[in-house]
Amino acid sequence: MKSLFKNDIRERVLFLSIFPMLAITLFLGSFFIYTQVENAEQGMIEKGQEFSQLLAAAAEFGILSNNPAELAPLSQQLIKNPLVIDVIFTDQDLLVIHREDVFDVSLSIPPDPTSRTAQEWLFSHPVKPMPIRTLSASSIEDKSSNEDITGWVIIVFSDEPIRQQQYQIIRNSLFIILAGFLITFLLSNYFGRKISLPVKQLSIIISQLRRGNLSTRAMGSNTEEFNQLAEGINELAKSLEESNYQMENRINQATQALSVSLQELEIKNNQLTKAHQKADSANRAKDAFLARMSHELRTPLTSVIGFTRMIQEGSTEQERAHYLKIIDHTSQMLLTLIDDLLDFTRLESDAIELEFISFHPEKLFHQAIEMQALAAHAKGIELILNGSFKLPELLVGDPTRIRQIITNLIGNAIKFTDRGHIELHTEYFHKQKTLMFSVEDTGIGINENYKNKMFESFTQADNSISRKYGGSGLGLAITSRLIKLMNGHIHVETKSGKGSKFVVTIPVEVKVEPFEIDEIEDFSIRLSDENLNILVIESNTVSRKSISDTFSYHNIACKDVERIEDALNTAEQYSHIIISHAANDHNLELLYRKTESLRQQFPIAKIIILHPATIRRDSLKNFKALSFTKPLSSSQLLKCICNSKELNNSLNDTDYELDSLEILIAEDNDYNRLLVKRILRQAGIKTREVTTGKQAIDEINIKMPDIILMDINMPDMDGIEASKLILEQHPKAQIIALTANISSREQQLLNQIGIGRVLIKPLNIEKLYALLSTLDFRRGKVTSAGTNKSEFEIEIKRQLEEIQSRIYAKDYESLARNAHQLYGFAGLFDHPEIEMVAERLKKAVISRDIRNIWSAYNQLARVVNNLQRF
Ligand code: ADP
Repeated sequence: MKSLFKNDIRERVLFLSIFPMLAITLFLGSFFIYTQVENAEQGMIEKGQEFSQLLAAAAEFGILSNNPAELAPLSQQLIKNPLVIDVIFTDQDLLVIHREDVFDVSLSIPPDPTSRTAQEWLFSHPVKPMPIRTLSASSIEDKSSNEDITGWVIIVFSDEPIRQQQYQIIRNSLFIILAGFLITFLLSNYFGRKISLPVKQLSIIISQLRRGNLSTRAMGSNTEEFNQLAEGINELAKSLEESNYQMENRINQATQALSVSLQELEIKNNQLTKAHQKADSANRAKDAFLARMSHELRTPLTSVIGFTRMIQEGSTEQERAHYLKIIDHTSQMLLTLIDDLLDFTRLESDAIELEFISFHPEKLFHQAIEMQALAAHAKGIELILNGSFKLPELLVGDPTRIRQIITNLIGNAIKFTDRGHIELHTEYFHKQKTLMFSVEDTGIGINENYKNKMFESFTQADNSISRKYGGSGLGLAITSRLIKLMNGHIHVETKSGKGSKFVVTIPVEVKVEPFEIDEIEDFSIRLSDENLNILVIESNTVSRKSISDTFSYHNIACKDVERIEDALNTAEQYSHIIISHAANDHNLELLYRKTESLRQQFPIAKIIILHPATIRRDSLKNFKALSFTKPLSSSQLLKCICNSKELNNSLNDTDYELDSLEILIAEDNDYNRLLVKRILRQAGIKTREVTTGKQAIDEINIKMPDIILMDINMPDMDGIEASKLILEQHPKAQIIALTANISSREQQLLNQIGIGRVLIKPLNIEKLYALLSTLDFRRGKVTSAGTNKSEFEIEIKRQLEEIQSRIYAKDYESLARNAHQLYGFAGLFDHPEIEMVAERLKKAVISRDIRNIWSAYNQLARVVNNLQRF
């Protein structure tokens, strides 16, 4: 049974509804049939008894009289009843008086009131005489007894009608039961179907969902519960679908992230491989570099040793001088190599800290270029400084490092150029606050393949070049790292065989001072007074343009020609003629003759000769012309024009008047001390020497020298400690640290106490000069002392007196002129303090502020008095 209804709800419903129904119907049907059949029988019995009783009462007389005729009408009436088949009237002994039919009937005395035979029912009732009724008697007393029985009335019912009635009852009932059963079956079936169909549908939906078809939805149904169930399933499916969607999304995202990380991994892998390859090639480059370095170090050393031996073994005076020159030259090369190496290692270990100090860009560029003038001119190459006239007065940055970059680039340019020129072009972009300079040469150029690698360390274009030109391959690496340190940028434009151009840009701010002096404007004012018309003779096109641009920029009339012969043909007169003597031209005789012809043709013109550094100035003595070593900065060009009367050959900054300097050497190593002393003395510098830091302090307390060269490593008290103590007492003391090799810690300590200038031993006089040029005292003391000091003092005193008398006279116009003159004069003699006071005076005069005019005058008087004291 269980297995029969296992799967089908409909069958189950059918079973569950039909079985009880069947049982109940059967039970009730049976009960109903039974009672109906009983009732029918009982009714018949009651009817029979009633009939017999009534008939007995009516038949009293007929029986008593034993008269069938009396009885016949009674029974005839009754016999019409379909139930009745016979009516028998008997006497008391059961002898029939009258009957309606004739068939056998077995009767017993007394007969049973109700008895049954096979096919009949017999109902007997005794017939008794009726008692007399009286009015007083309220009830009829039946005092009769059996003995009073006069006869019997027996009514015979046929069994057939009641049987039939019973059959009918049973049939009908069964029919009703069957119909009920059928209806129940049909209804159960219908409702079972109604229940099972949505369940089946839902189960199909669920199995579809289970198979992953999550978009399937259950249909609504008329039944509330199924509706709820369908909605629940739909909700479930929806949330399943959503979570499935989210899950898919997440899986997609995760897959994407995974593929991205895979890609990144691949990129990283590639990078690693590249880095590995790069490291490999760097290692190879390093190996090659070490091999080259040992070669580079050995070669000059071998020559030094060789020539030293030759000197020791005895040689003529002339040979000795020649050998010594070679030894000097090779030692310089060695020194440069070692300096490069040191710089490189310091950059590698981040031991270099940048300075942020104000500097004069034009002077810086000029110093950098003029330091290499001799080397360039010796190769017959022109060195040109271009565009410097447009530079701001003061910038803030690290002049030492910028100079190092320029020196390096120009050094390379000289090295790789055999003829033509090298142009250092400069420009300042105010909007971008960027200093730009480029070094362009007309040399061998750079191979396109090598262009991208050249800023890496230890690399050179090719071995043949390195063999021919030497060098460590570190110069450009150092340069580019320094530029990077300053947040700048370098790039190269080159054509093999035609030359190269290295372009550098560095972010640098302009220094804005309270009394900012626009020197260039000052020149324009000064020069506009004079009637200037300048002729420039320069064979190099770039240089010629650079000179004439400077004059044009300041609205000075200027004509330029290539050769002296071109000038001789013109009829025009000039206030100045500038002759630039080519670096590759050694014929001074010819120059002299041509200058003379110029002088004849332009008698009033002042002749200025710009000569290469290879020509000594005294060899131009008889030219009767002003002469300056090339290259000149724009300011120097202007200066030499506007002061050509007063100034002589003192414009070039290389002409240091070092003999007025006094340097204190603090160095414990006797040999080094002696060497430094000799170098300085040869340059005409006075020296004092001490061997410990303590002695240095004592010596300074006796008299402050102009410069202190302080060895860092000394016994007793080291250079750093001593410098710290000295700077505490004398903050303006000029200290240059001296060391064989500086560690990053030492560099840090020096920076902390404010010493930014370091010289590496052995002392290089060129570097010392370069350092001296950055020191403040030079601006006031050395240069002005070096120029015509007494002339300066006489003039300044005269101006002071004049200013005083004009203040008393309140002649403001003349006063303004005086202030202007004084300002220009101070600028000329490089005296910033007087320049500043003159500017102050000028402003006070313009605003007619008499209090400030006196205050400026007093300040000026104090400065002039101080000047006279020294
Ligand atoms: P080095 O000390 O060997 O000159 P650098 O780093 O300064 O090292 O230069 C590296 C190489 O770049 C040089 O060997 C040379 O091949 C090339 N180079 C640099 N400057 C120039 C230039 N102005 N003209 C041609 N080649 C140059």
